[in-house]
This record gives sequence, structure tokens and C-alpha cells, in this order.
Amino acid sequence: MIDVKGLSKSFGNHLVLDNIDQHISPGEKVVVIGPSGSGKSTFLRCLNLLEQPTAGTITFDGVVITDPRVDIDAIRRQMGMVFQHFNLFPNMTIRRNITLAPVRTGLMKQEEADAEAAKLLERVGLTEKADSYPAQLSGGQKQRIAIAGVIAMEPRCIVLDEPTAMLDPIGRADVLRTIKTLNRERGVTVVLITHHMDEAAQADRLVVMAKGRIVADGAPKEVFQDVEGLKSVGLTVPDTTELLWELRREGLDVPLDALSDEECAQALKELLA
Ligand code: ADP
Ligand code: MG
Repeated sequence: MIDVKGLSKSFGNHLVLDNIDQHISPGEKVVVIGPSGSGKSTFLRCLNLLEQPTAGTITFDGVVITDPRVDIDAIRRQMGMVFQHFNLFPNMTIRRNITLAPVRTGLMKQEEADAEAAKLLERVGLTEKADSYPAQLSGGQKQRIAIAGVIAMEPRCIVLDEPTAMLDPIGRADVLRTIKTLNRERGVTVVLITHHMDEAAQADRLVVMAKGRIVADGAPKEVFQDVEGLKSVGLTVPDTTELLWELRREGLDVPLDALSDEECAQALKELLA
């Protein structure tokens, strides 16, 4: 679905992305982690050319979007983007916030978009908020509305830059559930940046960035086993991995790949048996 080859990006003489190669398959849920300033946001913004790459090619569904002749608006419609700040218009109702883009871009007529908005609100569990204004919603609700607004454009792929960073635990859980449903039930490809390691553990594939490069790429279970490597670039690991790693350092024979709470509990049970 997305193919990135030799992607570099500089701001002035500051090299922020250094020769990135990456392939994202349809329906995949890819999570990107990395210390602050490692280039995660720049990488995501390059994917739909919100930033212009300095070098390299990006192909989306067979179309080389880094080619200047490409209609980037058409590509952006297929690649929804959600940010940390919710990007809702404060002076418009929730319904209007969701229908604005599909109507303006000619994707739908107003009545059609209204009907679609009703469905989307139901999907994100916020039907009763259609006539409310953003200020009347919690952070988690606003972010779910922002996501509804993005999926109103029927993208095949959705790219989220720390969508849960501003949220309390309940809002975060709601947003994550919404993203999971989109990915698992609607087959929407998801690329998500987070600094929550428990969110990273839920990825199909985990990409670790440091200093503008990809330093690890694989299943979370595998990537998280390199505890020292991750710590050396200033990252943490999930609590389960941390606990098992500490026990191993004490010389106890526990597996490092028991990532979920259940697997970790099982590993501890076997240790005690
Ligand atoms: P991350 O999302 O991993 O925290 P960013 O991609 O936001 O990292 O930033 C990577 C580096 O690029 C940082 O050093 C940041 O200061 C720099 N940077 C990002 N955007 C710009 C910009 N528009 N102009 C200049 N420098 C930038
Ligand atoms: Mg960032």
C-alpha cells in the first residue's frame, strides 16, 4: 500500500530523516515509537507530503506521489490524518465538523454527508453529540469526532500522530478501541505514533526510530526483547517486559517475550510452580 524508498528530509542543514526504507501493507497496523525529536512526526507528514521530502520516493497504491505531476489532494483524501490536537472547528456543531470536508471536496452532497455522519457518530459511540459544539465534549470524545471526520472521507489508510497524548485514561481507551475497530473490522490501514508502550505492544508491526533512522522493525514481541537497545536510545519497554527483564537479570529463567498481561502472569506462575 505504501512504499518508502531512500526517504531523507533536511531542515536547512539539519538532517531529520536519514535514508528511510519502509513498506506498509494493506490492512496492517504499524506503530512508530522513538524518542522525542527522532523524526517520527516528520516521517508521517512526509507520507502525504505535508512535508516535502529532500530525497527518496514514496509510492501509494502504485502511484509515485513524490512525482510533482501527481494530484496530491486525491492522495490525501485516501490517507486520513489525525493529530494530537483535535483540529475541530469550535464554532461548528459536531455534525457540521464531520460533514464539512466530504461536502467541500465534492465527495458527497449535504444530505448524503449528514446520513453518513449519523452512521459515523454511531460507530464512534457519540450519536447524542451531533448538535453539540466541540467545547461541550471531553478530550476523548473530541478525538473520536476528529477520527470520525477523517473516516467520513472514506480513507483506505489513516495516519495518527500521538492521538491519545492529550487524553485521560478513559478517553485514551475509547480512542484506541475506535482505532482498533477501524483496523480490524473495516480493514483500514493504520500508522500510529505513540509514546505509550502498551499501545505499541498492540501493533502488528513496531517500527523504532532514533536520530532519523529506523533502528528496529518487527513484531512487538521481538522488538521489545532488545530491552537494552531500546533503553540506550531513551525508550522504555512495556511493564511486563520490564518485570521479566529484571527477573532475568536476577538469574531467573523467565521468557522475555511474554508481552500481554496474561502471558506474563503465566510465565510467573510457571516460575513459582
Ligand atoms: P518527533 O515527532 O520524533 O518528536 P519531529 O519529526 O517532530 O520528531 O522532529 C524531528 C526534528 O526535526 C526535530 O529536531 C525538530 O526540531 C526538527 N523539525 C521538525 N519540523 C521542523 C521544521 N518545520 N523546521 C525545522 N526543524 C524541524
Ligand atoms: Mg512528534
